[in-house]
Amino acid sequence: PSPVPLPVLGADITVPVTGNRTVPYVNLDVAATAPCAVAAAEAVNQLLPSYASVHRGAGQLSARCTRAYEQARETMRRFLGCRPGDEVVFTRNTTDALNLVAHVLPADTVVVTFVGEHHANLLPWPRVVRLPLPSSPDEAVAAVDRALRRLGPALVTVTGAGNVTGELWPVADLAGVARRHGARVAVDAAQLAAHAPISLDALDVDYVAVSGHKLYAPFGAGVLAGRADWLDAAQPYLRGGGASAHVDSAGVASWATGAARHEGGTPNLIGAVALAAVGATLTPPRWEALAGREQALLAELRAGLAAVPGVRELRLFAPTHPRVGIVSFVVDGLDSAQVARRLAEEHGIGVRDGLFCAHPLTRHLLGTHGGAPRTAVRASLGAGTTGDHVARLVTAVRAIGAR
Ligand code: PMP
Repeated sequence: PSPVPLPVLGADITVPVTGNRTVPYVNLDVAATAPCAVAAAEAVNQLLPSYASVHRGAGQLSARCTRAYEQARETMRRFLGCRPGDEVVFTRNTTDALNLVAHVLPADTVVVTFVGEHHANLLPWPRVVRLPLPSSPDEAVAAVDRALRRLGPALVTVTGAGNVTGELWPVADLAGVARRHGARVAVDAAQLAAHAPISLDALDVDYVAVSGHKLYAPFGAGVLAGRADWLDAAQPYLRGGGASAHVDSAGVASWATGAARHEGGTPNLIGAVALAAVGATLTPPRWEALAGREQALLAELRAGLAAVPGVRELRLFAPTHPRVGIVSFVVDGLDSAQVARRLAEEHGIGVRDGLFCAHPLTRHLLGTHGGAPRTAVRASLGAGTTGDHVARLVTAVRAIGAR
């Protein structure tokens, strides 16, 4: 087997299962939150004994921490393929980053998206056209083209990879259409960023949002990267210290420019440094190895599940449409919550069940007829996944389906 391109913690965790047994845990819920990369843990451990304030103190430690924070920003700038002049704002997560885009959206700009987006990319928008779900990427591009024809200034926002089916969205083609209409494009890269390199420059998009906890770093740090002009023109996202440049004796502020304008309060240095450690580790050869490994495991998983009687995989596009390591499925006649519970209790396998914060999409994929299942099971792969994990899931689903 090829060496693991991005080592992660937690490979040796065991859990109790029925029958008084203890088994190695199989974490197949990586799309919700990925395990911590060793590189991120090491960066955090190095910082813990000596951290101090960022952008505030006069001491040596504070100066060092300020440098580390700004270096993390530069690493993320490279990791996300930013163009000169793009801003990199540290946020809490993708939800926060997309809400920041909504906050800086000019008053005349309408957002165009699809109703199947994750709620983080569906709900923040003050003025929005939510297009019905397409059944092919071409249909998606045509629908955006039609919508933009009858709109003035617009921002098209789509996911790079869906969190329910893992399917890739035609971001570059959508960006091409948007450009022809003079519209901007934002990408919810919460899922895509952990599975493939992303470049604002190469995709020709205006904004990208990512979450550290899906990118093998701990919770609490994300990034919004993209065009600076809307960010500079808007009121600060959070008002307070850090965001203010000067406050006069009557308490009236003039606001900071650049990323600081939208990073009010003491920044999350640990989160930013952990995220950047992953960004720095994922060089092109590692990306290639990581993605190649994941696609091989994904193919095994899909083929394995397809061979289990009564299992149906959820998908929007054709079966051969490219996707990241996510498979949602239902087992005929079984409640998905029960399948997920039994995978944990009887087999020590962690998956997720439900509607995955994308209620309209998941309901659409499940079907709306009387007997349609109400929720699905989702298995998601990542850097720590092995062939044994995939095999154990397939065997367990077969066993659960048979009884
Ligand atoms: N978009 C997608 C596609 C996601 O999968 C998620 C997380 N499930 C989010 C946005 C939101 O990410 P977070 O919860 O880290 O803000």
